[in-house]
Amino acid sequence: MKIECPFCGSSDISSDEQEKRLALPLHKPVPYKITVHRCNNCEEVGDFTGENDRIIAKVKEAVTKDSVLQLLHELSERGIKMTIIERSLGLPPKTINRWKTGESSAAAIALLRIVRTLPWVLEVAAEKYRPEIIREKIFEAAARVLKGEADKHYTGCKIETLQTDKSHVIQVELHVKEPMPETSYIKHGATAYAYR
Ligand SMILES: [Zn+2]
Repeated sequence: MKIECPFCGSSDISSDEQEKRLALPLHKPVPYKITVHRCNNCEEVGDFTGENDRIIAKVKEAVTKDSVLQLLHELSERGIKMTIIERSLGLPPKTINRWKTGESSAAAIALLRIVRTLPWVLEVAAEKYRPEIIREKIFEAAARVLKGEADKHYTGCKIETLQTDKSHVIQVELHVKEPMPETSYIKHGATAYAYR
């Protein structure tokens, strides 16, 4: 294809390939290439053929499709099957199967990202978004995060969430891996109740 400068009409054009990366949330960046043209007559730089927009749209479509499959795979590995998602969220049966075969939407992938990040929203949805269930799940999630952090510095941590009508308590039992200076003990113990 003969390329002409859209500004001066010259066909003295140099082409340069550029590496780009498409980074969708919760998906590894995918490299792709675009071509940048340069007019040697008027020095205008740009995409003179309009091909790059088509390339970007194509890459985005393919990566989105792949991302839907990957998110569903990750959820399935955590024991969250498609039927559980559909039932909890009140989606018609086979909805997710349609997403899987390419009939997804921006809303579908946004929903999958939320469920993948905060899987307990499914339990909240299944319980009709009752406020006490929301509170309970948030506290349990916070306890898991806290335990994850504690495990980095301590050994055999235990964690309990105690809930009554009036209060929620997250109790973490920490066991020091090795003697630590007093200052670091205070630093790591600051976010939890610590018992030696
Ligand atoms: Zn030109």
